[in-house]
Amino acid sequence: MVRLAVGTAAAFLLLLVTLIAAVTGTVAALTSSVGTEITPRDEALADIPADYLALYQHAAPLCPGLDWAILAAIGKVETDHGRLDAPGVHDGENFAGAGGPMQFLAPTFDSVVTEHPLPPGGATPPSRYHPHDAIHAAAFYLCDSGARHGDLRAAVFAYNHADWYVNKVLAQAEDYRDAASTPATSPDGWTIPVQGRCTSGFGPREGDIHQGQDLAAPIGTPILAAHNGTVINAGPASGYGLWVRIEHADGTITIYGHNHRNHVTTGQVVRAGQPIAEVGNRGESTGPHLHFQIELGGSPVDPVGFYADRGTRLCP
Ligand SMILES: [Zn+2]
Repeated sequence: MVRLAVGTAAAFLLLLVTLIAAVTGTVAALTSSVGTEITPRDEALADIPADYLALYQHAAPLCPGLDWAILAAIGKVETDHGRLDAPGVHDGENFAGAGGPMQFLAPTFDSVVTEHPLPPGGATPPSRYHPHDAIHAAAFYLCDSGARHGDLRAAVFAYNHADWYVNKVLAQAEDYRDAASTPATSPDGWTIPVQGRCTSGFGPREGDIHQGQDLAAPIGTPILAAHNGTVINAGPASGYGLWVRIEHADGTITIYGHNHRNHVTTGQVVRAGQPIAEVGNRGESTGPHLHFQIELGGSPVDPVGFYADRGTRLCP
């Protein structure tokens, strides 16, 4: 009985392996031109500090016609995301009276925050030198100046009345958008699953072991397959809320947890960079993020180290 069962199982497994090999082979043949393409990590996006990127992405949805790239481009052109060492960036004012990372004039900032109460997370009272307050106020100001109706030129012109300035900001925004839509990929095809802020890392946490790396991003942010592979689970899972597990050719398994929505089903063949799910806050989660886990031979390893070994930074 046992022997027969084992024999049957082995035969089934062999059949399954053959089948998977056949399917993978076919897909590889169909997508070979895509599969061999190498995308270098985009320095444009890596240039934005993680905390600023999170603020730009959080503030932009306040305005229907605005995207984070415009805010990020203004932050870049004005003060290099608060890194510029010049009068008026961290305190005081420049020759024109501007202050803070988004270079607000005091009266402009005051009238914006009077009209639009800022979401919590900044200074009390709101300060144009506080990145959270400056970036959220900039979103409201751009919105009132034309962004609400999709006129980004007018909105940016209101920010600084110069055509060269508008052109520079719009070009910078375009660079950031391109960079964001290009998955950061290692030379051997490992892709960053979510362009997010690295929060809780791999290792001991609250008397337990955190088995992956958390990447914070707004709900609905696309989660990309880390590498070519086959979906081995997609659905509800205890603690993870909704998860996807992908097995890759070398036996590595990647796990994506707390998903808001899944876009793949068990058995589906996926390629690196393909959207497989959306960032969510399901299961044991205290805020929207991707729990990204990598298992080698059944044991979780540190995803940051795993990507570093392959020449790519998981966390900017
Ligand atoms: Zn986690």
